[in-house]
Amino acid sequence: MSRPDPRGIGMTSQRTRDRLVDRLRRRGIADERVLAVLRATPRHLFVDEALASRAYEDSALPIGHGQTISQPYVVARMTEALLAGGTPRRVLEVGTGSGYQTAVLAQLVERVWSVERIEPLLRRARERLAALGLHNVALRHSDGSWGWEAHAPFDAILVTAAPAVVPEALLAQLADGGCMVIPVGESGRQQLLRLVRDGDGIRRTVLDAVTFVPLVQGRPG
Ligand code: SAH
Repeated sequence: MSRPDPRGIGMTSQRTRDRLVDRLRRRGIADERVLAVLRATPRHLFVDEALASRAYEDSALPIGHGQTISQPYVVARMTEALLAGGTPRRVLEVGTGSGYQTAVLAQLVERVWSVERIEPLLRRARERLAALGLHNVALRHSDGSWGWEAHAPFDAILVTAAPAVVPEALLAQLADGGCMVIPVGESGRQQLLRLVRDGDGIRRTVLDAVTFVPLVQGRPG
């Protein structure tokens, strides 16, 4: 691995991915299933070629349309929190974006439904997921704050854009005992929440202070 690498392919090599996973572990990610999936998932395929050499840095990167692919630490943290009470079978994701978090989930649960409001992002994500052979995913162009009623209830819901308050429709589509991980709050002061449905009640835990793009209501025309 110490040979010169004029085309920069080493930047996306297994060793580079291992370094990222070591970093996530040091930052407190302990679920080995999550770490193994992050190690195996080629994040460089989820960003523009010009950014591929930065794909295994622990940072968010632009994906166009004013959106970002989430930071690997945040993807790991949210996924770990979603799996903490037992592995969910049926998962709804709101905010497909690049499809990276979708790909991570699809390798850990039975089936993923993911909703994105920006059509060109959804189309690219669809191509990437198909290219990776991840067929247990259904994607939809829509405002995800309404969830995906036809497939509810979900064992888990993961939201990757921040609303000011948790959308009622998402709470309504969470199965009893189900878990939702969602960033909530105005930009610059959001909290990552873990919500668990307990009959008619909701148990709430604050996980982290986070920075997400806003959850935008409505579908662009
Ligand atoms: N998990 C994605 C994160 C993308 S950023 C990734 O790692 O690539 C959040 C995404 O949420 C953006 O693509 C944005 O367009 C989308 N989004 C924002 N509001 C939405 C809404 N109401 N419904 C569906 N998607 C939404």
